[in-house]
Amino acid sequence: MDVLRRQERNGIKKERNEAMSFKIAIDGPAGAGKSTIARRAAAELGFLYVDTGAMYRAIALGLLRMGTNVSSEAALADALSRIEVGLGYEDGIQKVFLNGEDVSSLIRTEEVSNMASSAAAKPQVRAKLTQLQRGIAEENNVLMDGRDIGTVILPDAQLKIYLTASVETRAQRRYKELCGKGETAIFDEIAADIRERDYRDMHRETAPLRQAEDAVLVDSSELTVEEVTARIISLVRAKRQKNA
Ligand code: C5P
Repeated sequence: MDVLRRQERNGIKKERNEAMSFKIAIDGPAGAGKSTIARRAAAELGFLYVDTGAMYRAIALGLLRMGTNVSSEAALADALSRIEVGLGYEDGIQKVFLNGEDVSSLIRTEEVSNMASSAAAKPQVRAKLTQLQRGIAEENNVLMDGRDIGTVILPDAQLKIYLTASVETRAQRRYKELCGKGETAIFDEIAADIRERDYRDMHRETAPLRQAEDAVLVDSSELTVEEVTARIISLVRAKRQKNA
């Protein structure tokens, strides 16, 4: 599999055990700090980190480039048949490919975020990525983050985390990030965008964002990245000791 070949070529530390792979699912709304925390925790544990949001974003970019009307099932099916998403790793950093092109740096715009959230509500889009994501988790110890990992993709994950934070905290973080990059940012617009995306992600019919019954709830509003990462690592260690 592409993901493994690249991973091995780049010498990423990993623990591979096909029969007993350990799966960690981290779900939660946009801006709760999932990717930063998941990346750190995965590196510390030697797990493969899979940012599933990047896969939805790559599809969104493909749809935007083709000018696809996602409300038309036929147009969407046709576009999806011409989109191939792949993952690779370079120096431990996940790269996402759209038809072989590395689009990792092109998928973080607000336009792509909004299209990703609309496209992710479509069952055809979800079906395409579900298969890919489960395949990766079968062969690796993974820490996968997204919206439906604990509920749909890896319902048998040994550890599930639901990571959230208040809308204000999440908007504040995004505001600081944009200002740090020298971009113009309006706090109220960012907060409204987050609310809208939360609503779409939580109310869609297929695989809506929700906390799995057996997930541990972590609210990062008052916690630092280091504190949340440490909490996740201690939860993983406790689980692994129990299962040993
Ligand atoms: O996590 P991120 O913000 O990069 O995800 C982009 C969009 O992709 C989300 O707003 C969500 O609608 C969708 N998504 C999803 N299921 C996932 C990961 C992301 O629906 N597992």
